[in-house]
Amino acid sequence: MSDAGYYSRSDLERLRMQQVVRDAVALVSFGLWAPRDPFLEFVRAREREGWRRADLRDLGVEISDSRRIVVSGSSSVTVPWKTSTRERVLGPRWDQREEKTLPRGSRLEISAPDRSVVVLEPIRNRKQVPLVKGVSLDPWPYAWQGVSAKVLAESLAERYARNGVNAVFFYAYNVKQGAAYWTRYPGATISSWGEQDLLKEVIKACHARGIRVIAWMYASRDRAMWTKHPSWRERRKDGTVYNPLRLHATYFLCPNNPDVRKWYVGLVRDLAKRYPELDGIELAEPLVNWFGNVACYCDVCREEFASRHPGQPLGGKEWRHWRAEGLTEFLLECIKAIKEEGIEAYLLTICDAWSNGALLTPVRQAEESGLDLDALLDSPHAPDWINFEVIWQQWAAIYGTRVFNYQWAAETSQRLMNRVDGRTRTIIHVEITDFGNQYMTAEKTAKTIRYVMKAKPDGVECYHSAALDRKSAWTVLRRCYEELE
Ligand SMILES: [Zn+2]
Repeated sequence: MSDAGYYSRSDLERLRMQQVVRDAVALVSFGLWAPRDPFLEFVRAREREGWRRADLRDLGVEISDSRRIVVSGSSSVTVPWKTSTRERVLGPRWDQREEKTLPRGSRLEISAPDRSVVVLEPIRNRKQVPLVKGVSLDPWPYAWQGVSAKVLAESLAERYARNGVNAVFFYAYNVKQGAAYWTRYPGATISSWGEQDLLKEVIKACHARGIRVIAWMYASRDRAMWTKHPSWRERRKDGTVYNPLRLHATYFLCPNNPDVRKWYVGLVRDLAKRYPELDGIELAEPLVNWFGNVACYCDVCREEFASRHPGQPLGGKEWRHWRAEGLTEFLLECIKAIKEEGIEAYLLTICDAWSNGALLTPVRQAEESGLDLDALLDSPHAPDWINFEVIWQQWAAIYGTRVFNYQWAAETSQRLMNRVDGRTRTIIHVEITDFGNQYMTAEKTAKTIRYVMKAKPDGVECYHSAALDRKSAWTVLRRCYEELE
């Protein structure tokens, strides 16, 4: 129960909860479903009603959400999805007995065999794509080398192709330096890489070698706009700016401010329009604050919250929920703009962990940072890809415990796959970056990749190119990527 509100099959086996109650366990025992209401509450409620655990086995229920319907007994079921349906029959030991495809249709008569459950799921017809073997390219560490954009792009693309990389995640809009591509978008800063249109050269050199290019940028952050428009800045409760230093990811603009939205969504759309040959645009680390209810209390947020929820306290539960809704709206506007230009939308997110190794549940993550993953994935404008940062060395350095290791990375990746539950394609982001006392070598990074790939995501991305150069890690990475099918 490391992850309250979410239970994997292995957790249940460990806790021997499989014997508790068939239908309730069916909710969660696939390790595929994160019901909104925690499982234990369900069981306790039945017990309060006088059910004994043995009786609970025979409880006939139908439990559904937009992703899955579980039926025991007989039921007339209305499916919410428009595609055809996969029906699976699971026996008393959760073994699969039968599987068949049902035609499209919203009304189905379902009858589960005795001591079995029927699981109905939408069939998603996604076209097959090759496994992503990615590398992130932050071009700024290469700036001192004094080579032109064209030469740099050619030499890197050559290096990537030689080492089995088939996708590059290019840091296209640097929070401090601005665009590494050419644009006339009002308010956009053009960096020296932008003047040479490095992105164009990277696309050209990579596409010539069959490597896909995804441009990424930090969601709702920019130094120039932050400096120019004090009213766009995120604020703490006391009115001071919220701008904690953490790598490049500073200069937070309030995603709830309509002017910020207009400018940032425009920036993203402009990038998509200028480079229609791009394979994707990725919004990195969207959140309102890193943890807690520290931000945002800018004037827009105060007024908006007061008018929507009169009398409710700032920073409370209502407020946290409202804050997450605001970030969701902002992100969906960005994603919609990207997709309207015919480009795939990616979202990269951190996965906060507790010291015991558990990840924050999606609900808790939404409350603490503002990022509501389920709201995004259940939206018709859901991102095409989600990229999860699984950086065990970061948590090992922060908490100083042995919980965070390769095995943790593998289990965490599986848990994240379960959370996504087929709603979008998934990539696991691993890093060769050192954190505190955790020094990463090529071998350790490759081992991490092997472990996270046990969860069978749609790909892996290794951060980042210049660090792989510095640690002479390419040969080891190549061998690792060759092993992946
Ligand atoms: Zn605000």
